[in-house]
Amino acid sequence: MKYGVIVCPKCGRARGVESSRKTTTCQCGRQIKLARMKLRFVTDSPHELAQMVAEVNASLKGAGPMPRARKKRKRVVEDAISERISSIKDPLERMRAVVAELVASKKELGHEDMEKAATVLGKKDPDALAARLLELGIIYEVGPGKFRQA
Ligand SMILES: [Zn+2]
Repeated sequence: MKYGVIVCPKCGRARGVESSRKTTTCQCGRQIKLARMKLRFVTDSPHELAQMVAEVNASLKGAGPMPRARKKRKRVVEDAISERISSIKDPLERMRAVVAELVASKKELGHEDMEKAATVLGKKDPDALAARLLELGIIYEVGPGKFRQA
């Protein structure tokens, strides 16, 4: 689920919306068609959304400059995995451990997971990493860009 911040054209208050919704109704009663609105600060974290709404509202009241969109998502998953595999020194075992960690929450791994794995393993190219994991028999391909742990 993705969320974003819009500013009501009638009352000028910011509010958080799910980006998949077509309309939302503001506190002031105005029905807002989201297709016409520019969604700011798109995030997948409801917590971050609430923060952004509060910041935008504060800045609209003149309390400060408009907050800027976060440049980078926090690497929560990557950091957690890095920590859990920190004791493993063998490169092959590290790769296996990262894949095992990633499949723990889902069956299939996609490109995004390969990016996470590449980050954890300090590799630049997620595609090259996927190719290497395939070669080593750690994962196998179940569809274009879709992998499972072997
Ligand atoms: Zn309003």
